[in-house]
Amino acid sequence: MLRLLDLVKLPRAFAHRRPRQLSGGQKQRIGVARAFAGRPRVIVADEPMSALDVSVQAAISELLISLQRESRMTMVFISHDLSVVRYLADRVAVMYLGHVVEMGACEQIFTPPFHPYTEALLSAILIADATVRKRHVVLEGEIPSALSPPKGCPFQTRCGHKRDVPDLSCERETPPTRHAADGHAIKCHLPIEALKRMEPVFS
Ligand code: SF4
Repeated sequence: MLRLLDLVKLPRAFAHRRPRQLSGGQKQRIGVARAFAGRPRVIVADEPMSALDVSVQAAISELLISLQRESRMTMVFISHDLSVVRYLADRVAVMYLGHVVEMGACEQIFTPPFHPYTEALLSAILIADATVRKRHVVLEGEIPSALSPPKGCPFQTRCGHKRDVPDLSCERETPPTRHAADGHAIKCHLPIEALKRMEPVFS
């Protein structure tokens, strides 16, 4: 237990503290220590930063990266915050209504070609740097229920690119998985050439 406290960079005296004597960031470190206690080969971290303020988020990200590198285990990191994902991940899978709509190396996800839902997610990232310009993508249309997903493409009720696909295929048929590059797949009816012509979200 004391070695685990060292691992997550908490003083050994914390072994005698009660939960109410710990801050939110310290509790999160204890959560990480517990996850590592069984020497796992895979850890699933589901929104581990969501309840933390930004400065603590940065410290926990650093901690997770260093532990993952040292122990060489696999970490499945689930998040809505793509800025954290970009910082942490080697490979990224973008999911919508339970479907993996895009998968690739981290740098492939952040530049065209990308899936129309990825484009909208990237546009929602908050950027503090005034020299970076961001294109705004506004999603309209109905948000479908995951219990009763729409026919065809799961994203078709909100996709601004649907009109570029002929024959209402988006509403009728499940899109094919297209291979944009080595290790990069996008599930969409639009041909890869059309997806490549999408403008970058950041410049
Ligand atoms: S298949 Fe159609 S609705 Fe779905 S993301 Fe592609 S263009 Fe949009």
